[in-house]
Amino acid sequence: MIIKPKFRGFICTTAHPDGCAKQVQNQIDYVKSRPKIDGPKKVLVIGSSTGYGLASRIVAAFGCGADTIGVFFEKPSVKNRTATAGWYNTAAFEKEARKAGLVAESINGDAFSKEIKEQTIQKIKNRLGGKVDMVVYSLAAPRRVHPETGETFHSVLKPIGKPFSNKAVDFHSGNVSEMTIEPATDEEVHDTIQVMGGEDWQMWMDALKEADVLAEGVTTIAYSYIGPELTFPIYREGTVGKAKDHLEKTAHELDAKLKDLGGRAFVSVNKALVTQSSAAIPIVPLYISILYKVMKEKGLHEDCIMQMYRLFSERLYQGGEVPVDEKGRIRIDDLEMMPEVQQAVMEQWELIDSATLEEISDIEGYRRDFFQLFGFETEGVDYDQEVDPAVNIPSID
Ligand code: NAD
Repeated sequence: MIIKPKFRGFICTTAHPDGCAKQVQNQIDYVKSRPKIDGPKKVLVIGSSTGYGLASRIVAAFGCGADTIGVFFEKPSVKNRTATAGWYNTAAFEKEARKAGLVAESINGDAFSKEIKEQTIQKIKNRLGGKVDMVVYSLAAPRRVHPETGETFHSVLKPIGKPFSNKAVDFHSGNVSEMTIEPATDEEVHDTIQVMGGEDWQMWMDALKEADVLAEGVTTIAYSYIGPELTFPIYREGTVGKAKDHLEKTAHELDAKLKDLGGRAFVSVNKALVTQSSAAIPIVPLYISILYKVMKEKGLHEDCIMQMYRLFSERLYQGGEVPVDEKGRIRIDDLEMMPEVQQAVMEQWELIDSATLEEISDIEGYRRDFFQLFGFETEGVDYDQEVDPAVNIPSID
């Protein structure tokens, strides 16, 4: 079939297999063009099919030569429906990793469940020689069914305490308008922490430790975000920020629990980037559009793969003490948060409206990156060609 992008809100309901494969290849090529990293050799990535998790898996495999297991929640194609982008990304990743002689295994299912944790432990035993020396936790999920109570929690992106109003962009139409978001209820705050906080990460690490599949000196890492004051009410001081506080607290607890294995747990604060998850956060797409323009002009722009390569090579596996901030967090949002970058972004923020959008923001770059998440607008792919939407992931089919 001929596959074109189809939108529902900030979600694209189609994905292009060749385009996704090309996007993955571009990330692999970037990592291969950089020096090798003396890093982990057996890696589990939870949330490995898109965004930061996919980039972590690619750096582990092609930068460190690691065998990997990836866990994710994606859909294969059925009849005339394409698979989700993460499905195609994983198919492309596995094929390339296997070609390079690496073990690459995947598990498609609900990472919050006990069953998927058990399946993963079995795969570590059967396919990775019994132990992992790195666990990346990179889930971004809208809901979680609690494995013990069966209760379903939904995460929301809302301010706490009072309504929040600011500018936002509809990046399809280019319309910039004022939007107001009503504050979350106490229950919504609690539920968002249940979904995006650290409890599930803790459950994963407890289950892996209990099953004796963590190697001596294991490293585990999860990802967080802080961002500028402008987005504090909706992000860092909002519902998701509360979940991130919990995730960061969990890192300290895990770090203490892993001491007997000589292990360590970190949270890395990453840069704001276009992913399926960040597209859903009000205000953030407009902020990212301006940020991209400023960072590209200053020669400081990085994408997911560059961020993850820097995380592994200059922070986690550079050979010495891992540099962290006063709260023990790794910061690879350092370039985004540079005062001169933030000042320039804030100046443009004041001026931005529908008329100035194209000129003072990189909305074009935002749109392109968004389409590319689903394998569209990718150089070297002929979108008028018939393509088979049914693509196998070698370890699943
Ligand atoms: P993403 O949407 O690209 O990836 C989410 C991953 O989670 C996918 O692999 C998806 O399949 C998987 N997933 C979701 N629900 C699942 C479930 N129930 N079971 C198994 N897998 C499931 O998101 P992302 O932006 O890469 O976010 C990853 C992490 O990075 C999040 O913690 C996010 O807060 C953080 N982060 C993102 C940004 C950003 O700007 N995008 C910045 C800093 C930190």
